[in-house]
Amino acid sequence: MQTARRIAALPPYLFAEIDKRVAAAKAAGIDVISFGVGDPDLPTPDFVVEELARAAHDPSTHRYPSYFGLPDLREAIAAFYQRRFGVTLDPGTQVLPLIGSKEGIAHLPWAFVDPGDPVLVPEPGYPVYEVGTILAGGEPVYVPTSADEGWYPNFARVDRGTADRARILWLNYPSNPTSAVATLDQFEQAVRFAADHDLLLAHDNAYSEITYDGFVAPSVLEVPGALDVALEFGSLSKIFNMTGWRIGWAVGSEVAIEALGRVKTNIDSGIFNAVQRAGVAALQSGMRHLPGLVATYQRRRDRIMDVFWDAGWKVEAPKGALYVWLPTPPGESSVAFTARLLKKAGVVVAPGSGYGPSGEGYIRLSLTIPDSRLEEGCERVRKALLGA
Ligand code: PLP
Repeated sequence: MQTARRIAALPPYLFAEIDKRVAAAKAAGIDVISFGVGDPDLPTPDFVVEELARAAHDPSTHRYPSYFGLPDLREAIAAFYQRRFGVTLDPGTQVLPLIGSKEGIAHLPWAFVDPGDPVLVPEPGYPVYEVGTILAGGEPVYVPTSADEGWYPNFARVDRGTADRARILWLNYPSNPTSAVATLDQFEQAVRFAADHDLLLAHDNAYSEITYDGFVAPSVLEVPGALDVALEFGSLSKIFNMTGWRIGWAVGSEVAIEALGRVKTNIDSGIFNAVQRAGVAALQSGMRHLPGLVATYQRRRDRIMDVFWDAGWKVEAPKGALYVWLPTPPGESSVAFTARLLKKAGVVVAPGSGYGPSGEGYIRLSLTIPDSRLEEGCERVRKALLGA
């Protein structure tokens, strides 16, 4: 039996590698504390679970959902955009519910990319932009970013010919893995670049509500004219601790919504209606749970930063997302430092090199681990770094 060449072209899934290492350490009797995966440890708010339970008892939710999502959900997403970003969306043509944002991100290239077409993928970045491109037969073209430039692409350095041929430019702020945030001015540059090169700007805003120190993350759609060239992805996963539920959305350009919707109607049957109703309850809740959630992550971020600051790291605390992104000690690679922390502290972190070549020399720690484990992990890392 022979598998397809496109499978061979996929990079190994980073967390599969991490899982293997964790399993090996556990088998060796180490009490491993994982700062690896960004999957909220806190539960979904009760009122959302209760709405799911109510809706699940209504047999009308048991049938195939509508391909395009419940009208109530589309309206709730549009209302969220109006309230939060001041962006007016037509729920009928500019909003598309997704089975988690990852689903839409992975499928978008099927709607925009013909075999061989370039897709501009800033790196280090969330691996699905690259993988989705490869599966659709496109060619991911890395756009390197660096700490010096705030982990934001320098569009002047992108080859003009490639930009003209490219079909999609991906962006993601607040960013996984770098935790960098972007301003509306930076999004303006991206919208202009997309319009100049006639490509789709696809912005992944999955962490829009998880920001610190008073920073408020903008939407790319706030930029005048963005609705003609941009699509933005969002999700309840991180905002409401709902990663297991699989509910997200794409909003923006009507052309892009129609094209992505056309792909999806051919290959999936939408989100369980009861989950959609719970999603409506979440979006209409006024986000009262958010200040507490963000305060928890900010406290955890500060705890981790203190460990590394005490050990001599001279970096700023991140302003968004669920990660602390840190340079490795001089001369030590991402993988070597990751292996040292596992060996010396029994702590798992993600090697930055797994997110693209420019992630070499960095590690990522996730803030989604319970406080007691975080405390223990921080103490162990502190001892390992200070040699105490
Ligand atoms: N986008 C980014 C940047 C992510 O880090 C993740 C998940 O970790 C996703 C999208 C996928 O989220 P969802 O659960 O909505 O599929």
